[in-house]
Amino acid sequence: MRFFFTTFLILSFSLSAGAQMSPAKGKTPAKGKTRAKPKEPWNKTPMLIKDIKRISVPTKGMDRDCLARLKAAGIPYQLFDNVAHVTTPIKPLTTKLGGVVYRRAWNNPDAPWIMECKTVENLILAGPKLQKWGIASMYWNSAWRVTQVEGKNQLSRHAYGEALDVTAIDGSFGYATLVNHWESGSRSPKARALHGVTAALRDSGLFSSVLTPAYNAAHRDHFHIDSPSRTHKLAVKYDVKSLEAPDKTPSTPDMKPDARRDHELQGPLPRPYEPPRSRPRHY
Ligand SMILES: [Zn+2]
Repeated sequence: MRFFFTTFLILSFSLSAGAQMSPAKGKTPAKGKTRAKPKEPWNKTPMLIKDIKRISVPTKGMDRDCLARLKAAGIPYQLFDNVAHVTTPIKPLTTKLGGVVYRRAWNNPDAPWIMECKTVENLILAGPKLQKWGIASMYWNSAWRVTQVEGKNQLSRHAYGEALDVTAIDGSFGYATLVNHWESGSRSPKARALHGVTAALRDSGLFSSVLTPAYNAAHRDHFHIDSPSRTHKLAVKYDVKSLEAPDKTPSTPDMKPDARRDHELQGPLPRPYEPPRSRPRHY
């Protein structure tokens, strides 16, 4: 007991001494030059997003069949070039894929809505299977994101535009978040919907990996789907030549990629903190 007390005394002394000494030790920062440390140094997306270019005709090596199928299915999209690690990067110019609305989760307002074409196609194909669980919307917070797999020296599937993170869903069961309702009991309609939707995604074979809070602590607040299967395709008649003559659209003003876009919020929050249980604003 005495040992702990002495340690405590020494510790508190050295801490307070350190606190008093630090202003003298540290150099005074140059006026007007307070360099903000990047909040997520492991996240390369804010740097790489500056390099992307909007294009209208696919370049060599892109998945033309996938693009043509989306076009034939009437899914509007913006095609990009120079999106690091992504072969056929597109931004769907619709929030509705396969009858399910993809809403941006409130906690990551600047995440780019960019994915590999095949990921988008498989989300469309998954729609009817998800709707069986009464789902109306999926709240995503991360799509293309250049980071590594946690604890590994290996790029995440997000870097290839082949993964999506979902923090919440809504529908006939109400608004269900992974962090609050995943373990709310088998009788809870929200838990049933979350488990049903993730199981439906897994059973569909549309994505080879579906990771939920049951997988590890890193997924306690979202589920992650990745690696879209190449065997499932939209049943549409299409012609890859249709891609050579792009229509003048899209010209939605708010769909322009903004070079200043940052993955992290800068400055004060645009709105007060909302607890996770609340609904995010609608887009
Ligand atoms: Zn993920």
